[in-house]
Order: sequence, then structure tokens, then C-alpha cells
Amino acid sequence: MRTPPDTASDLTEAQRTARAGFAAFADEHLVPYADRWDREERLPREVTEHLAAEGHLGAAVPIRYGGAGLDAVTFGLLHAEVGRACSSVRSLLTVHSMVAHALDRWGRPEQRRHWLPRLADGTALGAFAVTEPDAGSDLQAVATTARRDGDDYVLSGRKHWITFGQYADLFLVLARLDDRPAAFLVERDRGGLDVRPMTGALGTRASMLARVQMDGCRIPAANLVGRPGFGLSAVIATALELGRYSVAWGCVGLAEACLRAALGHAAARRQFGSALRGHQLVQRMLADMGTGVTAARLLCLRAGRLREAGDPASVHATWMAKYFASTAAARAAGDAVQIHGARGIGPDEPVQRYLRDAKVMEIIEGSTQLQQIMLAESAYQMFPVDSYDTERTSG
Ligand SMILES: Cc1cc2nc3c(=O)[nH]c(=O)nc-3n(C[C@H](O)[C@H](O)[C@H](O)COP(=O)(O)OP(=O)(O)OC[C@H]3O[C@@H](n4cnc5c(N)ncnc54)[C@H](O)[C@@H]3O)c2cc1C
Repeated sequence: MRTPPDTASDLTEAQRTARAGFAAFADEHLVPYADRWDREERLPREVTEHLAAEGHLGAAVPIRYGGAGLDAVTFGLLHAEVGRACSSVRSLLTVHSMVAHALDRWGRPEQRRHWLPRLADGTALGAFAVTEPDAGSDLQAVATTARRDGDDYVLSGRKHWITFGQYADLFLVLARLDDRPAAFLVERDRGGLDVRPMTGALGTRASMLARVQMDGCRIPAANLVGRPGFGLSAVIATALELGRYSVAWGCVGLAEACLRAALGHAAARRQFGSALRGHQLVQRMLADMGTGVTAARLLCLRAGRLREAGDPASVHATWMAKYFASTAAARAAGDAVQIHGARGIGPDEPVQRYLRDAKVMEIIEGSTQLQQIMLAESAYQMFPVDSYDTERTSG
């Protein structure tokens, strides 16, 4: 597969080489199977083992703990190439990396020493267990409780929509401890933890979604991550920032897959005496898709460079990248299906999977509306409205 020309020159030699390796892996081991996994709503275990063997599960784990320690842009390129092939597999990389990254940033030394090597080599799969039936966008509303009991914490509550919860060995859980948000590590084999599959989702159907119920689930006090009161604003926020960054790049790949499929079909399919690519209204869709892919990639690259530099502006840049990339992917998927006509909604064309997966991207890691709220507010901070403008409209 040829490297898209738009941003290749912005990458270092090492990043270009890494990207070519990720693309080859995705083309050989993911693209041919993604539709089947989607239909079967299942990702075979061998795939997680293969990802581990390639080092992709250790992408966010520092080298000293046995991970790949990828720089932010290379991490993004991995998620774009995997996202181009299969959003469910990209989701696994996302949540697993979120747990690893939060632990690396906020875990105690013994938590890092114990878990990071296992997360890096895939001995343990991580899942991010935050959402509850009554707490989605508003995570302040989390109702799962933790109470101290001697040397233990005891957790009770329900989590749902937990990506790869069916396979996870380790859950990063948000709960309330003395009514303050706190993050905990909960191993799968703890008593009082019950994991049930969630099936029939619209998109990312091979992401092994689960409901996780904790009924008096007892964990050692050493499983608390970070300090009580900082579970949401520090531990979970750190994980979500990486998750958002990963999903943004995944959407670049997804939108690119839509564009490639649409270009191929529009070149091959003839109606009214010419290929679809010759019809101007089809060209309009192809032009928007191509522009969307490039713009999304550039926003992601910008966010990646800021992340790499440790610049706090990376948080805002990542919101913007995720907002743009996920909406661009959803538009591109809709247009790709449109260009395919009836074939686009049939079972043999990946574009119908892209459309379903793209919808999910507008909901997870901060929905489109939540991002719009944040970005509108930050626009006022970046471009303050002076008093003259306010007075002009007040009468
Ligand atoms: C496939 C999939 C995988 C997931 N994986 C995980 C996972 O691994 N771990 C995990 O913890 N969670 C996971 N989630 C849950 C996900 O994080 C939530 O779905 C998301 O946070 C939104 O919450 P909600 O679905 O409860 O929607 P709600 O918060 O109920 O929102 C519903 C709608 O209202 C809008 N809305 C909400 N508040 C406002 C507002 N103030 N202003 C304007 N509009 C608003 C939202 O944008 C949305 O369109 C997953 C979800 C999906 C679909």
C-alpha cells in the first residue's frame, strides 16, 4: 500500500519506517478478517496474542518496563493503521494503553513494577471500567462505591459498555471512596466480580463488550491508584486523554479506509456512460473525504507533537483532533456507502462496517456534543470578546 503523500514528509525516517511496518501488519493480519470478526462479534484470542508478539500492546509502556515506549506520533500512526483495518482491534489497543498509561503516570512504584511488564507483553489485558447505567458523559455521577475494611477496599456497583471486558485480566475502575472519586485496580479473579458479555451493538462489534458487576468485591488496599479525590481529575483524566488521542488517530485511519474504498468503487462502477468518478456530485463527496482525511491527520499530528513536548496545550489540541477526526470519519463513511449505492449496505462491502463503527467514534471518549461545549468555551478564551462587541448587541 502506498503511503499517503499528505503528511509523509512531516514524519521522521524512523516514524515512516514504523508506519510502513504497522500498515503491513494491518494489511496482512487484520484487513482480510475484520468483516468476519464483526459478523461473529468476536475477536479470536490469537489476535491479541499476535498483537502482543508484535509489541503493539506495549505501545504506551516505557521501554524500562518492557514496552515499546513509542513517541506520541508513532503511537498515533499505529492507531491510524490499525483503525484503517479494524476499529475493534484499535479499541483493544486504546483501552489497554489507557490502563497502562494511567498506571505509568499515577501508579505506585510496586504497581508499575508488577503490572507494566505484564501489560507490555500481553500476559495481562487491561480494560477501562468507568461508565455506569446512570453515569456516561457525566462521570461525577459515578455511583460505584468503595469502602475501607481493614487492609482491603470493598467495591460495589455496576459498569457497562466495557471494551474488551470479556477478555480483560485487569480493570481500572472509578468508584466513590468517602464520596470522593478514586481509581482502583481490580483483577478479574477477585471474588464478587461478575463479567457478562454485551452483544448486538451497532458498531465495533468485535470489541468484546461487557457488563461488570461488583458485589462486595474485595481488593487489597494497595490496589488504590493515586490519591482518593484525584481518581477522576488525575488518574481517569490521564487515561481518557490518551484514549481520545488514540481514537482521533483511529478515525484518521477509518476515514482513509472509507476514502480508499470510495475511490476504488467510483473508478470501477459505470453509470450513465461513464465511471462514477466522472460525475461531479460524486467528485464533491470524494473531494470532501480527501480533505477530511488530510485535515484530520494534520490535527492529530499537531496534537501528537504537543503531547510529545509535554505541552499542556495538547489537551485542547486532542479534543479538537478527536472532534474533527470522528465527525470527518462519520461523514466519510456515510459518503462511502452512498457512492457504493446498494452494494454499500450489503454484507460484502466493508463500508457498511465503517459506517457503523464511525457512529461509535462520535460517542466514545467524549461525545461530539461534549467536545463542542469544550471547544466553544475555549474559543472564547482564545479570542476574547471585548466589551464594545458585547455592548453593541445589548440594545
Ligand atoms: C462501543 C462502545 C465502547 C465503550 N467502551 C467503554 C469502555 O471501555 N469503558 C467505559 O468506561 N465506557 C465505555 N463506553 C461508554 C462511553 O464512554 C459512553 O457511552 C460515553 O461516555 C457517553 O455516555 P452515554 O452513552 O451514557 O451517553 P449520555 O451521557 O447519556 O449522553 C447521551 C447523549 O446526550 C448528549 N449529551 C450528554 N450531556 C450533554 C450536554 N451537557 N450537552 C449536550 N449534549 C449532551 C451526548 O453527547 C449524547 O449524544 C463505550 C461505549 C460504546 C458505545
